Amino acid sequence: MIDLHCDTFMKLLDEKSELRKNDYHIDLLKMLEGGSKAQVFANFIHMESVSEPKKHCTEMLKYGKAQLEKNDDLIGIARNFKEYETLQAEGKMAAILAIEEGGALEGKMENLHYFYEEGVRLITLTWNYPNEIGYPNAGYTHKDKGLTPFGIDLVREMNKKGMLVDVSHLSDGGFYDCIKYSNQPIVASHSNARAVCEHTRNLTDDMLKKLAENGGITGINYLSAFLDGTNFSKVESMVKHIEYIKQVAGMDTVALGSDFDGVDCELEMPTIAHVDMLKNALNIKGFTCEEIDRIFFKNAERVLREVLK
Ligand SMILES: [Zn+2]
Repeated sequence: MIDLHCDTFMKLLDEKSELRKNDYHIDLLKMLEGGSKAQVFANFIHMESVSEPKKHCTEMLKYGKAQLEKNDDLIGIARNFKEYETLQAEGKMAAILAIEEGGALEGKMENLHYFYEEGVRLITLTWNYPNEIGYPNAGYTHKDKGLTPFGIDLVREMNKKGMLVDVSHLSDGGFYDCIKYSNQPIVASHSNARAVCEHTRNLTDDMLKKLAENGGITGINYLSAFLDGTNFSKVESMVKHIEYIKQVAGMDTVALGSDFDGVDCELEMPTIAHVDMLKNALNIKGFTCEEIDRIFFKNAERVLREVLK
């Protein structure tokens, strides 16, 4: 399995806790149990509660990286596809470092280079606030606004450096700008289908089709508000989104983006160790083993291979 989004690093820093074993949705032992190949670890920055986003992001990264180093018998950082393959060959899991909230760059290209050097390979361009890069889709206030000129430059620079552009949370207009300006596949690391569950965080049919043409992927988000609008995250609702995205955008566009340790609803699939529940549900619905492999890791692996140079 490759999971494109979790907020575990935020919890680790907040509670000065351990990545190897904890009572969160994700720890290394649960990842092993769930058959994890790679996990994208987001460093989430809440712009309204931090005064120095770059500094705070650096602190979170530092804590998370120290945890990864402490557990190098199980996991290592993959900064490119070759490093991912090497870790696989050594029987270890891969961590891909990410930032959720491009505001951490504080509007400076030099900070993209800085975080690249720190190992970051994916940036979720916005969270739920406007920033120097673009606008969020929350509440549809900025729905059709595109990327800023800095945002367009940033996407091009991320393409050049071999970094993943993540459009989850971004305005619809910003999404279309990423499609327009990126010459690499983009990702929606943790977004579902808007036709199945009407929510600003989900993607319309047209967006899903454009994402497929771009060679990009969307990671199924386990938060019930984005699955079916209830307070209980159900596996059958995940399957509904997967079936729908398959039908609209094809089998190569679906991946997983749990949002574990960020989701605050009750979960039928309680941790990353329990992902077989989703596999079994897909199997019962007639998905082949090959299709399940594509959802669980092959599609994400393809994008990592193409983008992380
Ligand atoms: Zn998010």
